[in-house]
Amino acid sequence: MSSEITQQVPFFRLDCGQAERDNVSRVLDSGWLTTGEWAMRFEREFAEAVGARHALAVNSCTAALHLALEAIGVSAGDEVLVPSLTFAATAEVVRYLGATPVLADVDVTTGCLGPEQVKAALNSHKLKAVIPVHFAGHAADIPAIRAVCDPLGIDVIEDAAHAFPARIGGRYIGGLSRCTCFSFYANKTITTGEGGMVTTDDDALAARMKLMRIHGIDRDAWGRYRSAGASWRYDVVAPGFKYNLPDLAAAVGVAQLSRSPLMHSRRTALAMRYLAGLRTERSIRLPASPSNPSDHAWHIFVVRIAPELAESRDRAITMLGERGIATSMHYWPLHRMTYYSALPTADAKRLPVAEDWGKTAISLPLFSTMSDLECDAVIAAVRETMRVLTGAR
Ligand SMILES: *Cc1c(COP(=O)(O)O)cnc(C)c1O
Repeated sequence: MSSEITQQVPFFRLDCGQAERDNVSRVLDSGWLTTGEWAMRFEREFAEAVGARHALAVNSCTAALHLALEAIGVSAGDEVLVPSLTFAATAEVVRYLGATPVLADVDVTTGCLGPEQVKAALNSHKLKAVIPVHFAGHAADIPAIRAVCDPLGIDVIEDAAHAFPARIGGRYIGGLSRCTCFSFYANKTITTGEGGMVTTDDDALAARMKLMRIHGIDRDAWGRYRSAGASWRYDVVAPGFKYNLPDLAAAVGVAQLSRSPLMHSRRTALAMRYLAGLRTERSIRLPASPSNPSDHAWHIFVVRIAPELAESRDRAITMLGERGIATSMHYWPLHRMTYYSALPTADAKRLPVAEDWGKTAISLPLFSTMSDLECDAVIAAVRETMRVLTGAR
């Protein structure tokens, strides 16, 4: 290891304010830890933040995606389009319902599924739904995807795990399609430790997801607790799931949501600092920024090393680690994963962009508690690493 290390930069560091601590104390003092008033408040405030009619708090984005697909009626034999460049959750929920994920390639500049990839799939597949992923927090072109899907009756369910608070056409992701699914996993843009939210403008879908979120019971525990009369009386109308978000977690979410404008502007400023600091690096491809950079949620900052250096990617990651910089990789594409590689659509030749991303991407640290000094240390380490790698070529 070099003796010049002045800065150790983790991949993520939690942004926890006094509001989070205060809210958690209030929940503990109240004696009501599971889903109740805090979860309902989180739902109201989140729905308002993204401009959706309904927001349902759940215990993960995976749960949100499962509920959404179940509610629109995805079932055995259906085909659902998912980008290969994503996390396992996007495709596994399709399998939960016995349907088949159809793997799609992604746009070369954003890493997102776009209308072109949807159109390409229509030639050989009868799609029930499409699940665009807002890769890294860059909003996928939902209006253009809907323009392809709506006339054919294909539902658009968004995997917005990276996309709070991203915008497209001046509107927040969360109010643009049938259902949008967010993640509050530990290192997402806002967190509840584990948690998620599904938004929709459709009253019937909201009712179905609300029912299936809690065992298919027609009245939740809070409703039973609050009702004066026969509180044991409830009915089960479907074999539901156990996907509710406890108040203990929702209280953290309420605080994170209230601080999210500041957290987001800090992420945006850091992303701009990276873009400026790495602009002259010829051997690195930088993420695309929308014309208004704050339309991007900047969940992760993914650079790709030049194709001719692809075989040195893993070495670059090791060298950054030796310089005290923690990194990650998004993503080794689904078509390369053992389980999904058996799908008929898991052919690397059909998915050249996702394949390339898997071989060249490096995710640099990006989190709202990151200092300018830490950002500059990453930039310096990346420049030094690329200088060594290109020199050694
Ligand atoms: C994190 C993530 C998920 C899953 O979120 P959970 O809340 O952990 O279930 C789904 N899709 C993508 C793209 C993610 O990054």
